[in-house]
Amino acid sequence: MKLILLGAPGAGKGTQAEVICDTLKIPAISTGNIIREALKNGTELGLKAKSYMDEGKLVPDEVVIEIIKERLSQDDCKDGFILDGFPRTVPQAEALDRMGIEIDRVIDIEVADERIAKRMSGRRVCEKCGASYHIEYKPSKAEGKCDKCDGNTVIRKDDEPATVLQRLEVYHEQTEPLKDYYEKKGKLYIVEGQEEVKDTTTLTLKALEA
Ligand code: AMP
Repeated sequence: MKLILLGAPGAGKGTQAEVICDTLKIPAISTGNIIREALKNGTELGLKAKSYMDEGKLVPDEVVIEIIKERLSQDDCKDGFILDGFPRTVPQAEALDRMGIEIDRVIDIEVADERIAKRMSGRRVCEKCGASYHIEYKPSKAEGKCDKCDGNTVIRKDDEPATVLQRLEVYHEQTEPLKDYYEKKGKLYIVEGQEEVKDTTTLTLKALEA
């Protein structure tokens, strides 16, 4: 199955992507994680992306389109995948269409901005493997340590309050039009994000069967 997860930053796409990945045994591909990894390794891509990311802006389309093209050409994607954080603009969605990729379903996780801002202040990510946690909704077993790889869990620079507001603005302007784009293709399924992560997960899994 070829899936796209849509939703504002902080809506919980990453967590739902992990669940789908475990359930359907298909890779979850996060352009944000790929870019952060490049940044950590000091590659050319990382350097190109850094200033955009730090300011809560989108990295230019041509850069992320190249990233996704390369990633989707890898062997583990041939039976399906979940895209988490791509596409984020209409030109990115059109590029995906031009690659000849037939998306089966687009799941949009809806959460109000106020709740997102509150949630993001509690978000932590593992600096080593990128796994995501939340101090209230999804704590790691040992505080400050990743369950999966024992790396340190930290606040992402772009999760700081001013950057979060900027990212939400960018989302409404540039990413939200994708709902219309996929609605017109009859692919859009809306999941109302719930207070409890497990309740959102139940709805996401239902959306896969619909
Ligand atoms: P994320 O972890 O998905 O919230 O992504 C973090 C940051 O990476 C975003 O705020 C953007 O700067 C950049 N990024 C990730 N995916 C994309 C994309 N599809 N298009 C443009 N920029 C992206």
